Order: sequence, then C-alpha cells, then structure tokens
Amino acid sequence: MKILCETQLVNRVTQANRTPRAVKSTLAIGYKQRASDANGNTKKELEMVLFTPQNKAGTRYKVHDNIHCVHTKFVLDGKATIGFKQPTENLLIKCDPIQLKGFLQTLKLGMEGKDAINLRLNIAAATAIPQKAQPQQRMTITKRSEYPIKGFPRTLKSLTITNIQLMKLSFEVCSLRNLTVLDVSGNKLTKIPPELGRLSLTSLTLSGNALGEDKDWRWMSGSKLNASLCDLDLSANGLSYFPPLLVKCERLVTLNLNHNRLRHLPFSIRRLQKLRSLHVSSNKLESLPAAIEDLHIDVLDVWGNCFQGFNAEAAQSHVRRVPAAHMPSPLWLQAARAVSSYKISYSATTLPAVLIQLISESPKCLCGKLCYALSPEDLLQRVIQPKFTNIKNLTYSREHQIYSDVVLCGPKCCAYQQLRSLFNIMFP
Ligand SMILES: [Zn+2]
Repeated sequence: MKILCETQLVNRVTQANRTPRAVKSTLAIGYKQRASDANGNTKKELEMVLFTPQNKAGTRYKVHDNIHCVHTKFVLDGKATIGFKQPTENLLIKCDPIQLKGFLQTLKLGMEGKDAINLRLNIAAATAIPQKAQPQQRMTITKRSEYPIKGFPRTLKSLTITNIQLMKLSFEVCSLRNLTVLDVSGNKLTKIPPELGRLSLTSLTLSGNALGEDKDWRWMSGSKLNASLCDLDLSANGLSYFPPLLVKCERLVTLNLNHNRLRHLPFSIRRLQKLRSLHVSSNKLESLPAAIEDLHIDVLDVWGNCFQGFNAEAAQSHVRRVPAAHMPSPLWLQAARAVSSYKISYSATTLPAVLIQLISESPKCLCGKLCYALSPEDLLQRVIQPKFTNIKNLTYSREHQIYSDVVLCGPKCCAYQQLRSLFNIMFP
C-alpha cells in the first residue's frame, strides 16, 4: 500500500532539527521477498519505505520488532506518528484521514503477521507516487491548429492568441477567472463581449483588430476590469472616436491608441489619474484637451497627427453637450464644484457614483472651476503649443504645432483675461 502524505522526521535521541519542515512524501508498506532458506521456505520481511523529494530512492525501515510506538490519537484529523527503534526516529505523518487510517490498519495487520491485500505490494520495487504536475498557467496560440478543441485549462493566468484570424472572443475565454494577462492581437475581432469586464485582467492587448466598428464598450465598465486593468493596447483598430467608457478604467498606467483615426481626446481623460504613458501617434488629432495637464504623464507620444488651429464649429461639436433633461440638478453640480474647489478627498465609498463622475469627468476651466458639459456661458478656446509642464517625455512632429483645447467658465474668469492678453488674436 502506498499513500501520498506530508512527513516530518525527528530523531528522538539527537533532537537535532526539532521542528523539521514538512515535505510531500510517499509512504509505502509491503513485504520484501527473501531468498529461500536451507529448508526451502521463502522468508518474507515487512518493510516501510519513505520517499521524499530529497531522497527519491527512499529510506527503508524494518517493521518487525522495530516499531517503538504508534500515536493515533489525532488520526481523525489526518495526523499520526510512527516511532522506529532503529534508527531512533519519529515519523510524523499528515494526510487524508481515511487513507491514513487504512495505512495504520495495514501496518497493524502486518505487525500481527497476517496477510492482507494491501500488503501485496512488492516493496523492493516500490516507487514514489508521481506528484501532480503544476497546473498550466500560460498558453500561447499562434496557429489555428493549436486552438484547444477540448477547451482551455481553468487554471490559465496568461493567454495569448495571436494572428489566427479569430473572429470572436468566446464566452469560455471570458470566464477564465484566473486570467490576468490576455493578448488577442492581430485577429479579426469586431466586438468584445461585456462578460470580459468580469475578469480581473491587468494587461489586455487588442491591437490589430477591427474594434472601431463596435459601438458596444460595456466591457470597459465591468467592475472587476475597472479595478485591475493597468495596460491596455487598442492600437490599429480603426477607432474614429475615444470610447467614452474607457475613462472608467481608472487604474490604467499605459494606454496605447496608436494608428487609429481619433480626432479628439475627451476632457474626461483627466479621470485617468494613474496614467503615465499615453500613445496616440498616427491618428488625426487636431488638438489635445488641456485636461492632459491635470494628469501626471511621463511619456506622451503624439507624433503624426493633424494639429490645427481653431475651428469653432468643429471644436464645439466634439464636446458632449447634454440635453437639458439629462442635466444633473444644480445641487449635484454645486456639490461637485465644492468638492473640486476645496480639494476634498473622496472615494467610491464616500460619494455617490454620479457625483464622482461629475467631479472626475467634467471639463474644468483653467481657473479650476468645473464646467459641466459646457453650459451656454462656457467658452471653448484653442491655444497653440501650451506648456505641458507635467509631461516628462513628449514626442511630436516638429513641423507641426501642438494645439490644445481649453475650457473657460466665462468672459469674467481671471484665466480668460490672462489668456486674452497672451493670445490677443484668437480671443475676440
Ligand atoms: Zn474660470
């Protein structure tokens, strides 16, 4: 009989190493056939063998007249101790209680000289029970033939499926609860199922797909994904606009939107306070929102865009104007403005989500006042090459100026007066 268990070995005499580390072991018991004696009787000798990772060949213990004691008081908890006379060692065993009970009963039968099925193991040739291999945590698929027919191991933490013309992200992938890294770049995905938002992904690579055709970005507002996603790559997807729900992924550190067709970034981008690296090269950006300055960006790549001067109509049209019916009550707006101007710290547990959205996503005047969805008295202006003092590394095409859109809360605002003196021509 063999059992898989954890063991500790203590020498009763030397007491060296009093609390040894428990190691995964195989414990075996059985008869060892001895050569025939002078009378032609084969003699059988009972033996126990302990296999550990340190001793793969096994340590052999005689059983007859060699058991000093057997402690079974905690056998129902899956613990027992067998003391040997030679060597003077105590073997502490921890394992499944039923298996342990069976093993101790077999030992008892053997000590009484009885025969039992469990003792018919050829102990001389016994080997350790193979330990279960580590569960699979990573999988990379780069050919269609490698796509698993029987499904994905539930234990996967990292999954890469690239360049296999994948049309659809299966529900099964969206339900791999242990997944933290997903790369499905270079496929033909046009849609991401909302269920993906239930995964605690830290890194998601979707580059080189066709998600620009998708209008359903609900997966970005999944609470698990929101709370975990640090790196998102949406480059080369034909995006013509910045997905509004993207600003809900507040943990984002790196955002790659290179090689799309974006014309504007929203003012609400200032919600991404953890963002350190923003890549928007090779788009059609005409300007950047001044809100970029509210972030703490280390790397901003805006190379290869179409920065251009003020076009009042176009500039106003990209700012979301909220229909009167959907305007938050003036009280909400007052509350949001108060939290913002007094710099009161807040979290999802202390403020309602509506208020957090107002505070963190509304355009902000240069004077610091929140301008919710640009009310009629607010002004939108575009200035040339603003100083982005918070950005450490800025990459842009030298032949073009960078333009930035600023929001001003009204002609009486001090920031308006300042800008007016700086950019006399642009301000009427
Ligand atoms: Zn102002």
